[in-house]
Amino acid sequence: MMLETLRTMLIVDDSKIDRTLLANIFKDQYAIKQACDGREALDVLHQTKVDIVVLDISMTGMDGFAVIEAMRADPALSDIPIVVATSEPAHEEAALTDGADDFIAKPFNPVVVKKRVENIIVKHMLERERLQMALQETELELRSLADSVPGGICVFRLTGDGRLVLGYFNDSFYQLFGRTRAETAAEFGDDILQLVYKEDRKQVLAALRTSAATGERFDTAFRVALPDGSLRWVSASAVEYKRVEDEPIFRSVIIDITESKENELLAQQRAKELQHAAEHDHLTGLYNRTAFYRKTKEYLEQHSDIDHVIVLFDIERFKIINELYGGDKGDEVLLAIADALSKHVDGVGVYGRMENDHFALCVPADERVVYSCMSSIENSLAVTGIDRQIMLYYGVYQVVDRSMPVDIMCDRANLALRSVKGDYNKRYALYDASMHQSVLNEHELRSEGDQALKNRQFEAFLQPIFNLSDGSLASAEALVRWRHPEKGLVPPDQFIPFFENSGFIVRLDSYIRESVCELITNMGKQGIECPPVSVNVSRLEFYDPKLCQNLRDLVNYYDLEPARMRLEITESAYADNAAQLLEAMDELQGMGFVMLMDDFGAGFSSLSMLRDVPVDMIKLDMRFLSHGATLDRERGILSAIVPMAKSLSLPVIAEGVETAEQAEFLKSIGCDYVQGYHYARPMPQDEFVEVVARSGYTARSLVSEGGR
Ligand code: C2E
Ligand code: CA
Ligand code: CA
Repeated sequence: MMLETLRTMLIVDDSKIDRTLLANIFKDQYAIKQACDGREALDVLHQTKVDIVVLDISMTGMDGFAVIEAMRADPALSDIPIVVATSEPAHEEAALTDGADDFIAKPFNPVVVKKRVENIIVKHMLERERLQMALQETELELRSLADSVPGGICVFRLTGDGRLVLGYFNDSFYQLFGRTRAETAAEFGDDILQLVYKEDRKQVLAALRTSAATGERFDTAFRVALPDGSLRWVSASAVEYKRVEDEPIFRSVIIDITESKENELLAQQRAKELQHAAEHDHLTGLYNRTAFYRKTKEYLEQHSDIDHVIVLFDIERFKIINELYGGDKGDEVLLAIADALSKHVDGVGVYGRMENDHFALCVPADERVVYSCMSSIENSLAVTGIDRQIMLYYGVYQVVDRSMPVDIMCDRANLALRSVKGDYNKRYALYDASMHQSVLNEHELRSEGDQALKNRQFEAFLQPIFNLSDGSLASAEALVRWRHPEKGLVPPDQFIPFFENSGFIVRLDSYIRESVCELITNMGKQGIECPPVSVNVSRLEFYDPKLCQNLRDLVNYYDLEPARMRLEITESAYADNAAQLLEAMDELQGMGFVMLMDDFGAGFSSLSMLRDVPVDMIKLDMRFLSHGATLDRERGILSAIVPMAKSLSLPVIAEGVETAEQAEFLKSIGCDYVQGYHYARPMPQDEFVEVVARSGYTARSLVSEGGR
């Protein structure tokens, strides 16, 4: 057979003759060891590597059965084949049952003995080879399994000085890190901690140490830097499974989670964006109303040692800027303001955009701070190129009680703001308690309108308008007054805005027109010719499709020429509702009504627009012009407008004329008509009738007056 190297045989027998016999049989093929009893046999087995034992059963002292039992119980010996030698057939079976591999009968037949032992050895060798092969195969399978799993598998040791020394690893391990083992070794030596992205190393090491100290599983996501510099997210799970020289050895599984981590980061980013969008105004990026309220509340809590003010501001007639210059220009204006706020208020206080052109800030209650904010905002508008057309108004509320909700503080600043709106001499106001009272009044007035109309508390006052050239009476304007039973004579500024909001203005205007028609008719009956009277038509009325019909019915009812009742439409109305407005104006002009454009020059209408709009006269308000303007500038504007209007054959009425100096100047530039306190205040109807009677007014002026 192929037993080339000499194997060792142990012969255990208490009969020296038998031992010698057997030794002689096998001495050529085996190195022979001998033992004369069980104990000696075990000694030999522990000292020498033995390939086969030939064992006598009946021995004095430790017999063969005891040796079989001891050998099978000892893992180091359990594998050695045993052939039992016995003269008693009963022993044969018992020995085989106990774990012997075969038996030979005494007295020995040398040929049979040799053959049997040989068979045993061969069988044993084959078995062992088969087992070894199976083991190798299993190991190979396991390895290829380990190499084929998508994750990295490795065994590493955590050293006392914080290095991770690699033991076993699979293919995916290095694929995860984008390097071969050799490349890793060249780059990082034996420390695989260096494979972890440097910013995450500390955290990984700390977590491993905790895991080693507590025995808990290490479960951490971290980044690894690939050779091309890109980062990959991995998740590693590791558990200590033994210690060598008190250093923990970990088994670890590592998987690539870049995609899910990226999704997670993306989701976080998205959440942040949503949060930002919820808190910020999309155009300017400033805080929106709700965020402004919240941030201001926090800010006031954090700065409780300093007094603060809330400032609200907006742009006068911002809608018209949009209308005339386009929405992009409007946006540019808002962005310029936002830019100034973030440059100037950042670090000083909180600021935000409430909506449209309304902005708010919360800054220390220090005049210098507030003024410098205001001036930086206004200076920022220069970049828009239309800064001279932009007027900002401010309302200021001094914070007294910090526990008051910020929206109420803002309401109060807004009241202050509204108190200066339309005031051409004042640009900001500080809230005071009387403003609150005036709001209460407003509410009262608003709800009383209906009743007041029934009780005839509204009254048309008349303000005469004169020819500038000779001072003769030319026409008049009807201006409403409310004779309130408790509040006395209330001027229109205090109720018209609310009536415009509620829609009640439509009924009030039609009532005023009716009383004007009545006045003209009654005067006629007294033989006094009334000059044309203009009435103010609220912009809201142009939403009423029956406006033209109603006006026609009215003059027909009183049997008046339409030209005797002129219609004043404020310039800013054009911005609201241009198409519908122009259509109605066209129709009214066609019916014979004289159309006046009121408050010209206060807004942003260009003179060229007058060409396209059906108007017959324009009214210039001196008060608008004198606002903030030097006399020179005012003169400049007027001396440009008047000739231009004349070139379009549009007569000009200057209203709000308060001084002789203004009157002189208006005359010098060829203005046609004047209206103002310098000549006459708005007066009750009976007084007006007297003025007309005294003036000797005749219809001459009606005929001579322009129209196109
Ligand atoms: P408005 O149409 O511009 O009317 C001219 C305003 O200037 C009137 O104010 C008049 O009293 C005032 N005024 C005239 N001359 C002078 C002056 O020399 N100096 C100054 N400081 N003011 C002068 P009033 O009567 O208070 O009316 C205010 C506004 O209320 C009017 O401005 C008009 O827009 C509106 N309004 C008045 N009556 C009616 C009405 O019956 N219907 C509608 N829809 N609005 C009206
Ligand atoms: Ca008017
Ligand atoms: Ca006016």
